[in-house]
Amino acid sequence: MTKAEIGLIGLGVMGSGLALNIAEKGYPVAVYNRTSTRTGEFFENAGDLRGNIVPCASLKELVAEIRPPRPILMMVQAGKAVDEQIQALREHLSEGDIVIDGGNANFRDTIRRFDDLEGSGITFIGMGVSGGAFGARHGPSIMVGGDHAAYARVEPVLTAIAARYKGEPCSAWLGEGGAGHFVKTIHNGIEYADMQMIAEIYGILRDGFAMPAAAIGDVFARWNHGRLDSYLVEITAEVLATADPATGRPLVDMILDRAGQKGTGRWAAIEAQMMGVPATVIEVAVAARSLSAEKAMRVAAASAYGGRAAPAGREPDAAFIDDLELALFAGKVIAYAQGFTVMGEASCEFRWNLPMATIARIWRAGCIIRSQFLDRLADACDAEPDAAHLLLTRDFAAMLGETHASLRRVVAHAALAGLPVPALSAALGYFDAFRQSRGTANLIQGQRDYFGAHGFERTDAEGLHHGPWDTSG
Ligand code: NAP
Repeated sequence: MTKAEIGLIGLGVMGSGLALNIAEKGYPVAVYNRTSTRTGEFFENAGDLRGNIVPCASLKELVAEIRPPRPILMMVQAGKAVDEQIQALREHLSEGDIVIDGGNANFRDTIRRFDDLEGSGITFIGMGVSGGAFGARHGPSIMVGGDHAAYARVEPVLTAIAARYKGEPCSAWLGEGGAGHFVKTIHNGIEYADMQMIAEIYGILRDGFAMPAAAIGDVFARWNHGRLDSYLVEITAEVLATADPATGRPLVDMILDRAGQKGTGRWAAIEAQMMGVPATVIEVAVAARSLSAEKAMRVAAASAYGGRAAPAGREPDAAFIDDLELALFAGKVIAYAQGFTVMGEASCEFRWNLPMATIARIWRAGCIIRSQFLDRLADACDAEPDAAHLLLTRDFAAMLGETHASLRRVVAHAALAGLPVPALSAALGYFDAFRQSRGTANLIQGQRDYFGAHGFERTDAEGLHHGPWDTSG
């Protein structure tokens, strides 16, 4: 066989799918896994694709099998394993070789790794991959950051394996350094927000109307044919419709209400806070997951404070179901606008010049937040690239104009019924504050000046002023 076009380290869930995907697209791939039995099993199970796969027992062997300059894609556990793997690889690599971290790295680690490899002759790429096991095997969304010339070496392979939206590959180089991993982080933050708001709508129907899971699933399935058409709404419908083989009851009713997280959503919230950009829907979604993990405390609080009002003794009417759909859409519009604003700020701070419309376009297929809505978002970025905020673009204003009243009615309904809707409330609160031309921070400035002599600006004069406060008491 001719030399491999690319090497891949780490044949776990993602790595094995990507290796098969690469081989299937006709590119010979050399593969290595720390635990060699896994490499053997992977190769045995690769079927017809074995002809394009070179299983390697050592890093030395792996490197020798790849056409120089050698791109090597690492799909190992994020964190220490990536540093260890780079260290182990270095002695085998030559000038111009390209190490690609395709895991869920913190972009600050990616920037550090660029610095560590500076001057070594080895090029580094930080690449976000989204789509889970299925996406890796059949077409993920790929967000690349790093040296553009190195990207050119791997671009044909990445373009070939990426998901496609109406024929367009969902893979792009987004900027230098940590750009790719940063964009992936915000993708995951938005994913948290989307999932939390969907769960809140489910909660209103389950706890506010005692609707059975399958009936709620039908509602989501219907919405998936409209403006909410998206992978997450589609799988929500399927999860709700699935029966538990062990009990015959809806499976979702048998699943513990405690959700895990691996940290990428939290990183998105942290970075937004560090940059001073409100991403309240994402922040609240992360917090809601943390609260979900506190099951024992919530059970104690339910008994201390009593439950909420009993579910309405009637089915929700059609108008209310429509309100829920529009409220979820309004929340989505606001959450995405926040996420894109965080990326805009990071783009300035790190001088990435992130291509916002391209980001929206490579998220239209392959990744977890894929949806029709992203097509519209991309068009809004293209139509008004200089808009200070997506909510100030004509199309977003139109979308929110049609839906924000529903969001308000749904949040008000939930608040009165004692049903938790923290992410939808955050979206509404943000929207109301965002469109308030005279806010209430004048009072905060007065307070700050009173206790800390921080000074305040006046509406009728330039400069910093102090109040005539009597602080003697
Ligand atoms: P996984 O199935 O748990 O596989 C982990 C891989 O990392 C295995 O090949 C393992 O090798 C290797 N590994 C772990 N520690 C290592 C070390 N110290 N040195 C060398 N190799 C080491 O993980 P995964 O789900 O494929 O995830 C891989 C990366 O993709 C992670 O960064 C993850 O966050 C990211 N990601 C995952 C998903 C997803 O849906 N799963 C989606 C997007 C991104 P052994 O076989 O020897 O243990």
